[in-house]
Amino acid sequence: MSDPQPSPPSWLPRQQIVLAQLASGIIDYAQQIAAGGSFRLPYPSNLQLSLDRLTLLAWQQGAPAPTGVVDLLQLAEQPFGDWKINLVEADVDPDESLLAYGRPTVTCEELGSLRGDVEGEIRENALMRAVMDKARAADAPGSYVAFRELLIRHPAITALDLDTRLAEPDLALLASEVRDAYRPAPPEAIADGVVRTCRGCNGLRLPLDDDRTWVCQDETCPAPGTAGVDHPAAEGVWWLRRELRTFITAPGRAELRIADTLTGLTVPVRLWPDFDACDIAVFDERPWVADIKAWRNPLRLAHRLRQRLFTVPAEAEKAFIVIGKEQVHAHPRYLERLRKACPEVRRGQRVVAVSEAEFVRTVRERAEVSAA
Ligand SMILES: [Zn+2]
Repeated sequence: MSDPQPSPPSWLPRQQIVLAQLASGIIDYAQQIAAGGSFRLPYPSNLQLSLDRLTLLAWQQGAPAPTGVVDLLQLAEQPFGDWKINLVEADVDPDESLLAYGRPTVTCEELGSLRGDVEGEIRENALMRAVMDKARAADAPGSYVAFRELLIRHPAITALDLDTRLAEPDLALLASEVRDAYRPAPPEAIADGVVRTCRGCNGLRLPLDDDRTWVCQDETCPAPGTAGVDHPAAEGVWWLRRELRTFITAPGRAELRIADTLTGLTVPVRLWPDFDACDIAVFDERPWVADIKAWRNPLRLAHRLRQRLFTVPAEAEKAFIVIGKEQVHAHPRYLERLRKACPEVRRGQRVVAVSEAEFVRTVRERAEVSAA
């Protein structure tokens, strides 16, 4: 029998909080570099604060502390399993790291809460709020859906294509917001007079340092190696703002894929019904509702779900948390770990966590029964 764990001293920062702060600091730092070309001091405050707190953790564990911010950024490139500082209480896996090739990873964005918490971002993002308010005021749920669908299907788009789409009634209502969502393709995306796109996600491909290898910028792209259409730069190419690519486009791919599959089964499907009450509602009578989650790490998703599970409408017969197939494939035992860490979504509960494949299969079974 082991002794009960002594409680940590009160001055010791919680590992989860330190990592969240470090992740936010790294994201701020990366954004400053992306915006300004080169970096100027001071470092973002989250980076400095997390260095101080990580130093406390290291002292308490008798581990070497990072010697400064530069050292901290080098540490961030290493998988957590290689850190000398023990992070067993944080929701991370040993093979995850915060930075890869100098860019924040999905893990970093999840920890810094930029990715994963789509609902939170939509509530807090000024543009998404404006879209929601305008669509609500006009009682135009179709416009809200068209806006989100455009952002997911076309993270990059030519000026002509965008103008054509804005002539459609649903999007015309939100024309100024749509224009605000996009920025001109950056200079580094243009070479030999063309802008290169990715067929996997319809986003842009940018050059690596060698200026010859063109890579997709979306870490969660389903087919990052495949070349898409080359657009002449002179015709004008728009690229979705980074934060929208992160919290609308990337998680939205699974939402649209599932909706497309179910529509193919001739089942009535509504995306983001009632202005985003949930991600998807299936069947008109006794509807089934679902939130579709694209968190890389089941422990971090569990943490979030324990804080806030979505509100199931009274008329819904069943409610699901659906895990996208990319996440299920990338992480063995994803659902098992999720259910263990979050008993609120186990079988028998009001909201049940299932894989994308399981969700589609269950919907198909009900559709077949009612058709028989
Ligand atoms: Zn891509």
